[in-house]
Amino acid sequence: MNPAEEDLPELSPAERAAHAWQFDVAGFGELGQRRLKGASVLISRIGGLGGMVAFQLAAAGVGRLILAHGGNIRPDDLNRQLLMTHDRIGTSRMDSAIERLRALNPRLEIVAEPANVSDANADRLVAQADLVVDCAPLFAERFALNRAAVARRVPMVEAAVFDLEFHLTTFVPGQTGCLRCLYPEANPGWTRRFPVLGAVPGVVGSMAALEAIKMIAGFGETLRDELLVCDCRSFHVKKLRLHRIADCPECGAL
Ligand SMILES: [Zn+2]
Repeated sequence: MNPAEEDLPELSPAERAAHAWQFDVAGFGELGQRRLKGASVLISRIGGLGGMVAFQLAAAGVGRLILAHGGNIRPDDLNRQLLMTHDRIGTSRMDSAIERLRALNPRLEIVAEPANVSDANADRLVAQADLVVDCAPLFAERFALNRAAVARRVPMVEAAVFDLEFHLTTFVPGQTGCLRCLYPEANPGWTRRFPVLGAVPGVVGSMAALEAIKMIAGFGETLRDELLVCDCRSFHVKKLRLHRIADCPECGAL
């Protein structure tokens, strides 16, 4: 996950200027910035949740984002999908997202997959990434991404929103359990349409981006083996201990 210092890219004057204020973050520094620049992060869906992850990682200076999301912008996307704009309703979500991300950070390299993650593309996408962030609403997509991430031993930040509650954790194949350890079966209550106020995925999307930044830059404490659960109706936060399932069909053999 963390390449040797001599293998990391150097920073250009423009990158030093753009990210100067975060060099002073304790434990991050210039080395953390070079680690971000050298990293490739796959984000599964760039809607309300993943769009915020992508926006924050672009702002932070991650060098390469691999973005997977299909379909065209609909009016009912716009309460939460902040990379999409009203004037582009009916056009590609991916095209709008790329334009917004490049407007923020023109140095960002983007690999666009204008389709949602599935068993057909998951391995090809994960193979290009140092870290994946799962922001998909449907279990079929989540399980496909988890399967590929475990097989390739790529860490996965897992974020989910329902109503005013959000969940966040990080799986590290071979060290922690995986999504199937947490959810052995798909939850039939998770459908494409779910109750959501955009500020909730905005909050957990930023937290998932921060978790990704900590994983890549190698500082702070991450949510390995812990599930952070926040009820935004009350802002009550709790952390639940997670465990590996010995006979998990995905990660049991690692
Ligand atoms: Zn597992």
